[in-house]
Amino acid sequence: MTDFLKEIIRKNIGKIEENVSLKKYTTYKVGGICRAIVYPKDVDRLVDLLKILKKYNIKYKILGNGSNLLFSDKEYNGVLIKLTELNKVEIIDNKIMVGAGFSLMRLSMIATRNSLTGLEFAAGIPGTVGGAVFMNAGAYKSDMGYIVSSAKVITPDMKIITLTNRELNFHYRTSFLKENPEYICIEATIKLNRGKKSEIENIIRDRRERRKISQPIEYPSAGSVFRNPSDIPAGKLIEDLGLKGLTKGGAEVSKKHANFIINYKNATAEDIRNLIIYVHDTVLKEYNIDLKIEQEFVNWE
Ligand SMILES: Cc1cc2nc3c(=O)[nH]c(=O)nc-3n(C[C@H](O)[C@H](O)[C@H](O)COP(=O)(O)OP(=O)(O)OC[C@H]3O[C@@H](n4cnc5c(N)ncnc54)[C@H](O)[C@@H]3O)c2cc1C
Repeated sequence: MTDFLKEIIRKNIGKIEENVSLKKYTTYKVGGICRAIVYPKDVDRLVDLLKILKKYNIKYKILGNGSNLLFSDKEYNGVLIKLTELNKVEIIDNKIMVGAGFSLMRLSMIATRNSLTGLEFAAGIPGTVGGAVFMNAGAYKSDMGYIVSSAKVITPDMKIITLTNRELNFHYRTSFLKENPEYICIEATIKLNRGKKSEIENIIRDRRERRKISQPIEYPSAGSVFRNPSDIPAGKLIEDLGLKGLTKGGAEVSKKHANFIINYKNATAEDIRNLIIYVHDTVLKEYNIDLKIEQEFVNWE
């Protein structure tokens, strides 16, 4: 075993999984082998882990639920850090303090149980709180920027600070964290409003039904591939070009929703990437619109 892993064990940082397939950790169900995934037990251990990785010059990345990532098929020769253990939820009046590793969908259920409204949009987004703050995840004309009042982060020089909503600089599918990926979100404070439980439940049920009908949630994917240009949905552009159902290897432009690419039959990451590039280039050629990719490509260089 290499020295840095020995030190992680000696310092009792948390669970380690070695040489794991990323197919298990991404919603596309693709990706190569990862040298190690580490689950720090708490924030102090997370800071210790970062120090160890820096000391040994090991590359690392926070892995949320892998629902916005396209890892390549090759080995990730570094450490992925899962914040699953940062999962505390505390509710005071209409405020929720929640660990970055907590599931956004579960949080939306907890808010509903407590008659708190504002998180309904998140009930169908399969990410973690940290990943959602990073991406400024959103739907139905709402997003994290509307509800996150502040977030605790670890800075590149290992200090823990609180960033306000303003400092988090939320914009359409981006934030300060996305612009500064060396910061790590460890906790978010979410401010909601009092609502009527039955009404919140109805909204969530209704939207869940709509997603089932309009999105290929029965297949592995990473949600919308492209950001919507301001005047027209990306899916409409792709559909109008007759690209629904187009395949490359085991990847397919969903027949249900043209802005989803699904892993319908043992796709490789390469199949998915090739299809994304093909769709992008076709839209550029036919409409002269340069669609921006919403998903993050990792370990391709
Ligand atoms: C079926 C389906 C439907 C979807 N619908 C939507 C939707 O309606 N709206 C929407 O916005 N998205 C949607 N998505 C995309 C995705 O779920 C969101 O972008 C989500 O916020 C990603 O969270 P994650 O935890 O999976 O992050 P990951 O994909 O694991 O990571 C994304 C990025 O965030 C970084 N990151 C993660 N956690 C932290 C942290 N604690 N601190 C700092 N950086 C961090 C990672 O390093 C990575 O760079 C959908 C995906 C699927 C599969």
